[in-house]
Amino acid sequence: MKRYKGMTLRFMIGVLVLVSALLTAIVGGYSAFSSTRNSLALNHLENNYQYAKKISSETHILLTSMQENMNFIANNAQEQTLTQKETDLLLQANKQYFNSIFFADSNRVIQQVSPTGSGLAVGTQLTSEVSIEAVELKKPFISDPYLATSGRLILLVSSPVFDKEGTYKGFVGGTIYLEEDNVLSNMLNEHFYGNGSYVYVVDRQGHLIFHPNKKRINEFVSGNAIIQKVISGKSSFEQTKNSLGTEYFTGYSYEKSSGWGIVSQTPVSVLKEPLNKLIVSMIMQGLPFLLFILLIAFGVSFIISKPLYQLAKFSEDAIADNKTAPLDRPIIRSRVYEVRQLAHHIHNHFDQLNSENRIDGLTGIANRKTFEQVMQGWIESQLPFCLILLDIDHFKKVNDTYGHVKGDEVLVFTASIMQKFSRVEDVCFRFGGEEFGILVKTGNMETAASLAERLRSEIETSKSPTGGAVTISLGIAVYPENAGQSTEVIEKADFALYQSKADGRNKTTIYAD
Ligand code: GH3
Ligand code: MG
Ligand code: MG
Repeated sequence: MKRYKGMTLRFMIGVLVLVSALLTAIVGGYSAFSSTRNSLALNHLENNYQYAKKISSETHILLTSMQENMNFIANNAQEQTLTQKETDLLLQANKQYFNSIFFADSNRVIQQVSPTGSGLAVGTQLTSEVSIEAVELKKPFISDPYLATSGRLILLVSSPVFDKEGTYKGFVGGTIYLEEDNVLSNMLNEHFYGNGSYVYVVDRQGHLIFHPNKKRINEFVSGNAIIQKVISGKSSFEQTKNSLGTEYFTGYSYEKSSGWGIVSQTPVSVLKEPLNKLIVSMIMQGLPFLLFILLIAFGVSFIISKPLYQLAKFSEDAIADNKTAPLDRPIIRSRVYEVRQLAHHIHNHFDQLNSENRIDGLTGIANRKTFEQVMQGWIESQLPFCLILLDIDHFKKVNDTYGHVKGDEVLVFTASIMQKFSRVEDVCFRFGGEEFGILVKTGNMETAASLAERLRSEIETSKSPTGGAVTISLGIAVYPENAGQSTEVIEKADFALYQSKADGRNKTTIYAD
């Protein structure tokens, strides 16, 4: 099973940087977006409010001058009875205000009306509540919308007529046909932006007096929260939702003299386009910056993680290859404390492992593995050499007689003599157990044989740790004369050593076919 190696530090830092850069961009973008949205929304709310206020004051001026004009007509009627011609002229002079004007006597019977043929005829008695109210009140007033005797939905501006003696003679009225083109619709229709914004006006009870959708005129809409507020005398702005769920920026203003409410609203959807443009422009402006930050961050993460990656790779390779020869070590030039310490300790640890791997623990000379590597290296470079293999004679007896500790001391003693007699370029090693060897860096058999003999005679004549002497048997083979491969060289030297044992031990045998 393959071991899970984990993610590289470089990848993790990369992800961290990417995520934090993106989060920063998103948070920053969102706050820019929402503050722009809020200021745009406030702008629209303010605009609608100012607009409703403006219309409210225009309406006030309009209603005042309509009432004044009606008062003026009432004054005219006081002095003489109006003729049809005079009535037509008066309507002509006031046609920007009124759809029709009439004079009714104190019994509400029409005395004059212009234009003729408008549904009201001279001699007709008015029956509407508003006409009754006009006669009872005997004061100038502007009515709420009502269904007139003519069948039209109208607003009436009326003014009482008194003769010189002050006797009430009736009233003059100017009508506004709410469902047709009229002074209000002419004023309000000017104000369309084409972005879905519109204005509507309600009377003091909550009936629509003006609405861009004429069908809705006279509809009772006081259930709407905004209308309740405005007809109760409030003027302000807020975001609202209509019955269809469409959201609006709404401004509203109360017109005192009539009790009317003017509402101006713009659909919230007008923000869509500018906000979409804002998002696109934020992305376009932010993207190069984000990429630049990412580039720098990746560069820095590379610098931080590179030495750690090198160290990790080095340890992994070293363990995988199980090499004893020094590996190509990464040169760590980090300024990061943790990295420097880690590199230092890893290097020390590998030095120690390396030497433990190459040296025999008991005798301190090269072990068999090192011997094989060195020999392989020499063969690969085609360096001629001699291999001396030696084995302590009757070593079992040493152990049996003096114990293993003494036996070990004899092994150490043998190794030290081998090292003393060999040259620096030669390699002494423990082959295993009580067998040793020397790689003699010469292809000259005589040199190796002389070294072997000197060694044999030194050991034979020295006092070993047992107190007495031990002897060794030796075998020698030459590369490349006797063998071309490492295993073969060992076999041949071993064969010669076996020969020495067979010949009675304490002997040196040179391999011969
Ligand atoms: P021969 O002359 O034929 O080589 O006889 P020998 O007794 O030396 O050979 P044998 O192979 O019979 O015995 C080798 C002994 O070496 C057996 C083993 O216990 C001992 N030996 C091997 N390694 C060590 C070691 O590291 N320390 C000690 N003290 N003894 C060891
Ligand atoms: Mg042996
Ligand atoms: Mg032996």
